[in-house]
Amino acid sequence: MITVREISRLRAELAAQRREGRSVGLVPTMGALHEGHLSLIRHARSENDVVVMSLFVNPAQFNDAADLRSYPREEQRDAQLAAEAGVDYVFAPSVAEMYPNGFSTVVRVRGVSEPLEGANRGLGHFDGVATVVTKLLNIVAPDRAYFGRKDAQQAAVIERLVRDLDLPVQVEVCPTVRDPDGLALSSRNQLLTPADRTRATALHRALRAVQSAANGDGDRTAALQAGRAELDRAGIEPEYLEIVDPSTMAPAAPGEGDRLAVVAARIGPVRLIDNLPLSGGASDPAHEVATPVGAPTNR
Ligand code: AMP
Repeated sequence: MITVREISRLRAELAAQRREGRSVGLVPTMGALHEGHLSLIRHARSENDVVVMSLFVNPAQFNDAADLRSYPREEQRDAQLAAEAGVDYVFAPSVAEMYPNGFSTVVRVRGVSEPLEGANRGLGHFDGVATVVTKLLNIVAPDRAYFGRKDAQQAAVIERLVRDLDLPVQVEVCPTVRDPDGLALSSRNQLLTPADRTRATALHRALRAVQSAANGDGDRTAALQAGRAELDRAGIEPEYLEIVDPSTMAPAAPGEGDRLAVVAARIGPVRLIDNLPLSGGASDPAHEVATPVGAPTNR
């Protein structure tokens, strides 16, 4: 595995691979790798000849300076886990390499980026995501790019972006990986105190409660109330708890096709998000339970 920091060097390396007729898969990450990231890498490994993982804590998508400062950075450990999972190139550019002096362009995906995370973190969040993902897709020119369903709105924004701009890449959205108690793995979980780590499991319980109520009689208000009750029991006031259409992120009513229950909440100082599809029922096969590899996911 090679770590590359310059755009020109990565382009040269990948051009050589392409001349040999090899396909390329890209896994964009902000590092602090856990089983969720590793599952994306394994998907990429199984479908491509060459796997590139980007490792870049993108300042443009952080609306909160304290969140950016406290975001875990563990490049050595990440490089080791990436190598073990079969990554060929880690692309770990500096901020100046990605955003040199004079950088002025913003990619904005309207509509799908505006509710939920867009409303709560500000429109700049998905502008930052769309801009950096566009750059990464242009730098790597992958055949396939891999994203997690855990960040469902991000995946919907990227699918829209790729369609709208005719970017020649196949977007693959992979299942959410969870700890056995249901908590979706997140790099931010390691910032939770042990007590908050326990409280955080209420997010998944709330989504399950919405799921089983909505799959029962289908009443939207009752389903959301069932979810709220789980959060109340854990003393959690959500930023949002909603039932949405997963392609537009607009509120969805029963009988309107695919629906997704989504939640965001601060647990202590840590902001977490999660989601669960409503049509899959209790044995929803679209989620995986982590089989720990490497270091523990919650410290
Ligand atoms: P991040 O490093 O948080 O920007 O995440 C990089 C990629 O990993 C994104 O596509 C995320 O959606 C994905 N991801 C993060 N957590 C999980 C998880 N628990 N299961 C599956 N994918 C995940």
